[in-house]
Amino acid sequence: MTLNAYETTNHFVDRGLEALHLDQRYRTLLLTPAREVRVELPILLDDGSLANFIGYRVQHDNSRGPFKGGLRYHPTVEIDEVRSLASLMTWKTAVIGIPFGGAKGGIQCDPATLSPRELQRLTRRFVDAIGTVIGPQVDIPAPDVNTNAQVMSWIFDQYSRRFGFAPAVVTGKPLNLHGSAGRDAATGRGCLVTIRQVLAAEGKHLVGQRFAIQGFGNVGSWLARLLVQEGAKVVAVSDVHGGLFSGDGIDIEKLMHHVTATRAVVGFEGAHPITNDELLATPCDVLVPAALGHVIDQTTARTVHARYVLEAANSPCTMEGDAVLSERGIMCVPDILANAGGVTASYFEWTQNIQQHAWTESRVNHELERYMVAAHNEVEQTRREFRCSLRTAAFVVAIRRVKEATDARGFD
Ligand code: NAD
Repeated sequence: MTLNAYETTNHFVDRGLEALHLDQRYRTLLLTPAREVRVELPILLDDGSLANFIGYRVQHDNSRGPFKGGLRYHPTVEIDEVRSLASLMTWKTAVIGIPFGGAKGGIQCDPATLSPRELQRLTRRFVDAIGTVIGPQVDIPAPDVNTNAQVMSWIFDQYSRRFGFAPAVVTGKPLNLHGSAGRDAATGRGCLVTIRQVLAAEGKHLVGQRFAIQGFGNVGSWLARLLVQEGAKVVAVSDVHGGLFSGDGIDIEKLMHHVTATRAVVGFEGAHPITNDELLATPCDVLVPAALGHVIDQTTARTVHARYVLEAANSPCTMEGDAVLSERGIMCVPDILANAGGVTASYFEWTQNIQQHAWTESRVNHELERYMVAAHNEVEQTRREFRCSLRTAAFVVAIRRVKEATDARGFD
């Protein structure tokens, strides 16, 4: 049975609901998105012709705070994927313990085919279309696949033209426009803290552990750099064009120079070329999918040669892939815990915007570490108490928090 993205997420949430013995009414309540917006976005292209795009914003739950989640620009954006990612944000913000709910949005488009001016026009049009359902205390977008600090700046500007100065309407802004120090590295740093704590819970240390990382973008490259600084070895990396392997560990600083010059990891000397499928099967201690969703399925899960899978990407495991990993005794550190460092730093950015007071990078890193360690402790304790996987334990922690907030607010 192949489940779509939303069904896969619901399947994982269901394991948590079952562990808590919550009845059907709560299942419906906690799984149903609060609001779904679909908008038409006509814009004039640079050549004067008309183009029509479709945008989405799904607001899943706001019982614990304003909706929060990224905006994705990609040709495959569709409602079930957006629903799935919005739901994951609800559980991620809850498990990490920041006062937000969950949302996600996107525009079905291929940004590679749009000029910067067209992209700007499309973004501003989207803000006009969803302006009344976002806001610093309502719903706060952020970057995701193919959106960046520039897109966030346009969102801030367009929203502020209509509603007044409001930097806290969006996070992931550039440093010179109310962004936060440390935001760039935060997701990778959060992954580092989480795997360090997971290993420590089993009496192990990061030093000498061998990592294979799929995806060398923001998350993968920061994680690789931080791992090497901590004494771990990165034996394999890849990007969309292919991968590299070196049993002695890849020199990540040199690789960064190569990637800056060529925009790809392939062609780097001092490591052997491998394919992305070979990367997933690399013998290592920790395999890190840090690129796409659903790469670890029934087939690839059987090839994994790692003791741990650290989900830096969102939804890298299908339902079947997850089952195979657990059958084979491979511990999977779930996305809603592993990659929560990004939204946690976004929370710090929002806090700084509201306080109108910028934090230092060391304060951001210190607070990030504190949130990640506390979340891991809670999940690990729950895993032992419920004798379940780390994923189900993370959902149990998150569902309990969302349910308690929902109940406390009442229904009358
Ligand atoms: P990015 O666009 O900076 O990098 C993505 C990387 O994946 C690139 O190296 C790209 O070449 C590679 N890639 C793309 N297609 C691939 C393929 N078919 N095979 C192998 N590699 C491929 O993205 P990012 O911000 O690093 O995000 C990576 C993942 O982490 C995504 O799933 C994202 O949703 C998730 N995530 C990101 C953040 C964040 O703060 N950036 C936070 C939480 C979760």
